[in-house]
Amino acid sequence: MPTFTIVAGARPNFMKIAPIIHVFQSQQKAGLVVHYRLVHTGQHYDRKMSGDFFDQLNIPEPHANLGGGGGTQAEQTAAIMIAFEKELLENRPDLVIVVGDVTSTLACSIAAKKLQIDVAHVEGGIRSGDLSMPEEINRMVTDSITDHFFTTSEIANYNLRKAGFSEDKIHFVGNTMIDTLLAQMPFFKKPEGQTFENLQTGNYFVMTMHRPANVDQEQSLKAMIDAILEGTGGLPIFFPVHPRTAKNLQNLGIEDPNLHLCEPLGYLEFNYLVKNAKGVITDSGGVTEEASVMNVPCLTLRDNTERPETVNLGTNVLVGTDPKKLKPYLDKIMKGDWKKYQGIPLWDGKTAKRIVDILVKSYS
Ligand code: UDP
Repeated sequence: MPTFTIVAGARPNFMKIAPIIHVFQSQQKAGLVVHYRLVHTGQHYDRKMSGDFFDQLNIPEPHANLGGGGGTQAEQTAAIMIAFEKELLENRPDLVIVVGDVTSTLACSIAAKKLQIDVAHVEGGIRSGDLSMPEEINRMVTDSITDHFFTTSEIANYNLRKAGFSEDKIHFVGNTMIDTLLAQMPFFKKPEGQTFENLQTGNYFVMTMHRPANVDQEQSLKAMIDAILEGTGGLPIFFPVHPRTAKNLQNLGIEDPNLHLCEPLGYLEFNYLVKNAKGVITDSGGVTEEASVMNVPCLTLRDNTERPETVNLGTNVLVGTDPKKLKPYLDKIMKGDWKKYQGIPLWDGKTAKRIVDILVKSYS
């Protein structure tokens, strides 16, 4: 009987693991013997960044919670590695499945491989080439010890081939984040509260920002928000604030009648906002994928992306981190003059099934 341990730690992981767990559950219901353990590393631990996603995405209670949140990158990596090693010694699986590019992805893949346990990386092979982002380091280290790469794009396959990984390890399967998006779309719901009462479809913007390059320097954060307010023609801007950004934003004390700050939203509420927005302004990778599939114009406040397909085939444009660059793009969105989503191969809602089929075959 194959046994798998699947790891999740931070917000962008939960939407990536949910469909895989649902396939495990339906296989178990159908009488197939697949044993899995879900391990939450505790990297994100508050309700708004973790618990709500379990409820909304029907993810079952984790079998273990490692409580590895807080501290610096190294402290967090170390705490998660120590706790995950213990978990693996007590419950040794055939394979550990990690997703995405967060600290937990890196820490758990290293702990597993050092115990000679195979590692599968869902969303393997993507690269921005930007080593100033901790996520890029997490991707490179994880991929260097991965046994099964489950990739979202041909570009990821190319990156892996170029790095010398053998073809039989690379499985081009699509995007589990989009499995979740397509499955949950009928359940998207308007966020509650006065802020959202007068929401008009197609007549507002959504923004998110949490990358150090954009939010750690208060004055550059202010300059970017000012440029957004100036370029969006008086339309409301809804900005669910990531905990990483909250303190600096508070210090700046920006107040504008068109800027509506709120706590991080649940998945169903956030994607309701995105789906009905005139445009999205973000530095999140996952949001560029979701906005593309929902055919909503998307401006990325970064100089590079590990998801070039969102630019080539999706609705995403790389604006960079200079606020002066924003205006022409916002003008185009305001005029309704934007490229359309052209479809990205295998982002079809069936990725998790492909992954589980491959894994069950390999380990039965
Ligand atoms: N998201 C959410 N609520 C919010 C902001 C984002 O549910 O208030 C979701 C979003 O739909 C996407 C994921 O969180 O699925 C992206 O996470 P994040 O931006 O933290 O990570 P990144 O994609 O940048 O790694």
